[in-house]
Amino acid sequence: MPAETETTVTALRAEVSRLRAALKKSKRSHYYCEDAWYSCPKHPEGCANEYTGKDCNCGADRWNAYVDGLLAEAAPRDETTAEQR
Ligand SMILES: [Zn+2]
Repeated sequence: MPAETETTVTALRAEVSRLRAALKKSKRSHYYCEDAWYSCPKHPEGCANEYTGKDCNCGADRWNAYVDGLLAEAAPRDETTAEQR
């Protein structure tokens, strides 16, 4: 690989890695409110409203699953696997 191409590939890999890190940082924790009645049931401190169920109602699970999907879609190809093709 010519040195110039190698530099470009290295720069692109760094960029992809930065974008992946930014995506990971966008993951959310469950909503917490001082008045625990309004907290998400999946927050570690729980929700005081027992009628709200046990599922996430703040959108964090949905958002984090979406981010996981994006990360999986844009997962870097394993170098050894790529060489074997
Ligand atoms: Zn939640």
